[in-house]
Amino acid sequence: MNELSYTPDIFPFNQTSLFLTFALHHPVYTRSAVMKPFLSLLYYKYVRIEDAEQFAQDHLRFCKSIGIKGRILVAEEGINGTASGTVEQCHQYMNHLHADPRFADMVFKIDEEDLPSLAKIFVRYKKEIVNFNRPEVNVWEHSGKYLEPEVFQQLKDEPDTVVLDVRNKVEWEVGKFRNAIALPIDHFRDLPQHLPELEPYKDKRVLAYCTGGIRCEKATAFLLENGFKEVYHLHGGIIEYGKQTGGKDFDGKCYVFDERITVDVNEVNPTLISHCHRCGTLSARMVNCANPECNNHFAMCEECGWKYEGTCSDSCQQHPRKRTYDGSGYYVKGKGL
Ligand SMILES: [Zn+2]
Ligand SMILES: [Zn+2]
Repeated sequence: MNELSYTPDIFPFNQTSLFLTFALHHPVYTRSAVMKPFLSLLYYKYVRIEDAEQFAQDHLRFCKSIGIKGRILVAEEGINGTASGTVEQCHQYMNHLHADPRFADMVFKIDEEDLPSLAKIFVRYKKEIVNFNRPEVNVWEHSGKYLEPEVFQQLKDEPDTVVLDVRNKVEWEVGKFRNAIALPIDHFRDLPQHLPELEPYKDKRVLAYCTGGIRCEKATAFLLENGFKEVYHLHGGIIEYGKQTGGKDFDGKCYVFDERITVDVNEVNPTLISHCHRCGTLSARMVNCANPECNNHFAMCEECGWKYEGTCSDSCQQHPRKRTYDGSGYYVKGKGL
């Protein structure tokens, strides 16, 4: 996937504000050499949608009318989606949402694609756009303040400041901010159970972060509603931090939920923090166990990958339904990550 520069000499926008929105939020995007025919869009916004159920139905109708594909969640607390289509379809889609005052300032993360990345369109009405099991948390009213990456970088080492990782264990084990507090959770919705462990930081300045921002925005709202005084979140998440600052002090790699599995963030003082599950050597190479009934997600070095045929244990290596290891440790028909 190549990133797309949104400059008016490529796309003649009739809406200046649209370009400004991109320019403001994506100042570091560079133009790729060749335009690809499709785009994928990634976006979310916490905003009160009173008529969320009706909105979801209308939105689906609109998407079908322009032929765009996508997986879009709508709740009273906002919208969270990924969409895919031709360049023209994607522009129509972004214009449509930006014309609605509730989404006028919504930021789209845009990637160019050779082929559409999605084949179907779903618009689903849900209780929450990110599953936290606490629909009462008012993110649009209470979320912490945004910190731009440069400011986050300056503040994170200040006295009385703690950095809080709100991602799952499988993600922070392969990479996280140096000295960040991380919780042993398998799902974001398990975070509230760990509130007692976070109590000691109630009067500190808390800088929360996640991959792209959608989870920490909700986590910070939850903390503020539970008596925390000064809570911020990293605008654009780890990914934007890497792009804008060079990623200093992010140890290891950033876990992502696509076929890349991890991406590099830190080009200033990079390190590895995760170890091969089989031999203990430093490795950020994440695989799924070749035994489909296990499908355990873990780090494994290249050498062990071949030696143990992509399995996490000897019993998995002996498993009759073991999938063929091709060096990637990624199985399309396997269970989701
Ligand atoms: Zn190994
Ligand atoms: Zn296994």
